[in-house]
Amino acid sequence: MKLLVPVKRVVDYNVKVRVKPDGSAVETAGVKMSMNPFDEIAVEEAVRLKEKGIATEIIAVSAGVAACQETIRTALAMGADRGILVETDAALEPLSVAKILKALVQKEAIDLVVMGKQAIDDDMNATGQMLAALLGWPQGTFASKVEIADGKATIIREIDGGNETIALALPTVITADLRLNEPRYASLPNIMKARKKTIDTLTPADLGVDPAPRLTTVKVSEPPARKAGVKLADVAALLDKLRNEAKVI
Ligand code: AMP
Repeated sequence: MKLLVPVKRVVDYNVKVRVKPDGSAVETAGVKMSMNPFDEIAVEEAVRLKEKGIATEIIAVSAGVAACQETIRTALAMGADRGILVETDAALEPLSVAKILKALVQKEAIDLVVMGKQAIDDDMNATGQMLAALLGWPQGTFASKVEIADGKATIIREIDGGNETIALALPTVITADLRLNEPRYASLPNIMKARKKTIDTLTPADLGVDPAPRLTTVKVSEPPARKAGVKLADVAALLDKLRNEAKVI
């Protein structure tokens, strides 16, 4: 079974994001970039499927600037077999990424796509769903457990107030939620080995995709600064404030 794992290069989750002075976007110049955390979970799940003998090959793909190679190398060091960089300087929207992924699924005869539920930079939570729709495949979104057997995937999804278990016919698209697994750290020998693995470079045009944006970002702004808190002398003072100032009790 051939797996495709899309990995997005995003601002590292530990970095406090800053908005560019002109309010056009989030500042990425000179900022630490890493693999989207949900994509690390997706890579981990794919590698576990390979370790169980279910997956035969894992292809990591990233779409974006040349530096996305680093993100692919991280996936290779975690256990992916080879990489594909779809290189473009265009600002990619979920629909463009989904079209790129669809073309790769068809080109590589992929049986299963495992990807993050959401990219932590623009929080779109759309690419997996769009890809499944474009392919006409079933989708298992927000997976917190995945089992593949007898030509189907059984997924547990965390929903409001409980868990939902669904069965999907393969081929399918699965998007990873936070509790699916704990991604491994790449060991030094595996980082060295990953240097020798192949990364092919394509362009969106090679895949017949025009990445021209359809959305215009009107403005990006930082959240309002939090007001300083106050220290109260005792519980009685707290109760008084809650009752008479905030009027919540
Ligand atoms: P989003 O719909 O933007 O929140 O992203 C959901 C998932 O789509 C991410 O977790 C990635 O697995 C994948 N994805 C989005 N953008 C890219 C990209 N430029 N390159 C590779 N994968 C991507």
